Amino acid sequence: MSEASLQAGSALRLAVAALAGHLSRYEPLPALIADHDDIEALLQSPDNPALRQTANEYLKEINRLLESSDIYVMTPDGNTVAASNYGMPGTFVGQNFNYRPYFQDAIAGRQARFYALGTTSLKRGYYFSSPVEVAGKILGVIVFKVDIDSIESSWRGGEYKIFVADPEGIIFMTGSPEWLYSGILPLDAPRLARTQTSRRYAEAELKPLPATESVYHGQHLMQIPGGGTTREYLRLSHYMPEADWTVNVLLDTASVRTQARTALVAILLFICLAALGVAVLWQRRARVEERLRLQEETRNELERRVEERTADLALVNEQIELEIAERRLTEQELRKTQGDLIQAGKLAGLGQMSAALSHEFNQPLAAAKSYADSAALLIDRGRVPEAQDNVRRISNLIDRMASISRHLRNFARKPNEKLGPVPLPEVIADTLEIVAPRLRSADAELVVELSGTDLTVKAGPVRLQQVLVNIVSNAADAVEGLDDRTIVLSAFRSESGIVVEVHDRGAGVPAAIAERIFDPFFTTKGVGKGLGLGLSISYNIIKDFGGNITVRNHPDGGAVFSIVLEASAPSREAAE
Ligand code: ADP
Repeated sequence: MSEASLQAGSALRLAVAALAGHLSRYEPLPALIADHDDIEALLQSPDNPALRQTANEYLKEINRLLESSDIYVMTPDGNTVAASNYGMPGTFVGQNFNYRPYFQDAIAGRQARFYALGTTSLKRGYYFSSPVEVAGKILGVIVFKVDIDSIESSWRGGEYKIFVADPEGIIFMTGSPEWLYSGILPLDAPRLARTQTSRRYAEAELKPLPATESVYHGQHLMQIPGGGTTREYLRLSHYMPEADWTVNVLLDTASVRTQARTALVAILLFICLAALGVAVLWQRRARVEERLRLQEETRNELERRVEERTADLALVNEQIELEIAERRLTEQELRKTQGDLIQAGKLAGLGQMSAALSHEFNQPLAAAKSYADSAALLIDRGRVPEAQDNVRRISNLIDRMASISRHLRNFARKPNEKLGPVPLPEVIADTLEIVAPRLRSADAELVVELSGTDLTVKAGPVRLQQVLVNIVSNAADAVEGLDDRTIVLSAFRSESGIVVEVHDRGAGVPAAIAERIFDPFFTTKGVGKGLGLGLSISYNIIKDFGGNITVRNHPDGGAVFSIVLEASAPSREAAE
């Protein structure tokens, strides 16, 4: 309402300014015209028809120029002697307007203004009057009537209802024609009497406007019935003292209320939207917080698990370290045991061999004994040449026994030898010397096949010899008592190194035990015949050389023991 009141205030100011502007244009004119010679002349002799005519013409001309409604001249008794509308129907000439306040004021020597409904023309107008003075004497009055229709018509159909009311509350000008001559104040007798005196509204019928007024928060509200409904208006008024009227501006509160309602709805909507926005934000924040909380929980859980795992791992690590330490210890023990085993195996081999050797030694010893006995007899009998022959035979026998003994010594030596280039043919020849008695007892034939000239391997000669003795002895065991007792010992070069193979024509190694024959104490031979150490020792010796020993069955039958050794450049001094 306050805002509407401000707007209505502007409209009111505009209306007041327009009215004041419109009227002030004409204000100085009556005095100006009053000074005119023709007018003064006329009033000096009002009945002179020529002067009347001149004045009439003059007034008509001026009225046309100034676009005023009417201009007329009155004598001091109120009779109109000249008018711009002379000779026209309803002319003011001959009319008496002495009841009008503007006449009474002017004849009293004052300039006056008045608004009224013309009693003759029945046209509303605004009157300016001025006395006509000649030589200090008031001879008459000149009146200037201004049309107000043009201003009034500009008020029609606007947003605001504008009306002008006189001091008695009667509407004189209005954009709503139905309100004209209606009283917004009660039309009581004194008011009617005052109006009647000036005949301001001539014969027009005055009626009360059934309006009620109220004050709402300092704003003047007016309820006016019309068109079947009662409309409420916000009323602002301004009293114009120079015109002696009040300009009123009415603004229909329906539009204000609609606006207020729209604004209220908009505000409510905005509040709802804002609340919704806040709710959405709040929810989003809650969601984000929830997510962060979940992430935090997950991270904590993860950290907890990682700690658990780390602890587990540390435990496992500790156990592994313990196990590694144990393994190392076990390995050391194993090495030591293996070393012991090699030695033990060697001693066992010695034991076995000593049985065979005793046989070998006994025979030449017995032969040497009988040769010696018979040599003594032959010398006694003087058969010296025969005795000498006996002595030579004894010497030969001793040589043979010495050779056997030498091999035995080699075999028993500790294996602290260094690895170096070993010529295979020499080792094989030494081996043959040692295994010859065993081969003979088994009635086996050993065929040696050496292909290529440069068959030097990286090994220890004594230990390699030990390995070969073991394998050839096993082969002899395998073929003993069979029809084909051939054993082939071959050596050749291959991509992986130098290969030594021992192939017999025996029963071969059954697949079920092929894996285990290199294990210590694994033997298929009867008690007293085998210790099960030979292949195990051989296996370890070949591994020490960085080589490999395997067994397979030959397609033609029999086992093939295959030893692969690293080839080496021949060097005499390294070999023992
Ligand atoms: P031993 O000869 O005292 O039994 P080895 O370790 O030398 O101990 O041999 C282990 C086992 O390997 C033998 O008992 C035998 O069953 C098998 N074996 C070795 N050489 C041959 C071969 N040439 N033919 C068939 N079996 C063999």
